[in-house]
Amino acid sequence: MKAKSMHKNSKSMQKVNLFIGAHPDDIELHCAGTILKLIESGERCKAVVATQGELRAGDRAEEQRKSFKALGITGIFFNGKDGGIKQTLETQSVIDNLLATIKPARVFVHCPTDVHLDHQNLSKMILVAHRHKDFDLYYYPPTDTIAPFDANVYVDIGKYVSRKAEVLAMFASQKDRLQERAWREETSFAYCVEKFQLVFKREL
Ligand SMILES: [Zn+2]
Repeated sequence: MKAKSMHKNSKSMQKVNLFIGAHPDDIELHCAGTILKLIESGERCKAVVATQGELRAGDRAEEQRKSFKALGITGIFFNGKDGGIKQTLETQSVIDNLLATIKPARVFVHCPTDVHLDHQNLSKMILVAHRHKDFDLYYYPPTDTIAPFDANVYVDIGKYVSRKAEVLAMFASQKDRLQERAWREETSFAYCVEKFQLVFKREL
């Protein structure tokens, strides 16, 4: 009984890494290897996807669910409107409450230099949510465009590249787009590396 409760405590004290993306496949493209690596090292990972990606063809929500399962993470949809994520007080309040519930130690999200407005607005709201400084904030690179990105954390995902490719293949409706993006990642030396910008550490 005692051992069981101790085990439960140690599990509940594990760090939660929260990955946030605007659309299905945004998180996987830049973070799938890191997620697999963190899970293997005993950390917990969760994901929040802000929309179901309904502007593009295909059942992207179902593809996203399959990916959550393959990665072994708990993922939820935020029920935002694809193409309509706006920085408002109301949405900010929902995000603040979500983070207060999940209590992540680290949050990974789009970078604010991403010129896709859904990505940018979501990134800005996570930055505002960081005002309480109770999690470390990491940006991942711009997804749809080449824009300034000042990486300072590099994760070697060499061991996880084939599993990442399997996960990306689950987004079958976006195959052509993802192949083009993967090529861009490879040419920027990052094929076996996922890169992030650690923006803020929690205050001591
Ligand atoms: Zn996106």
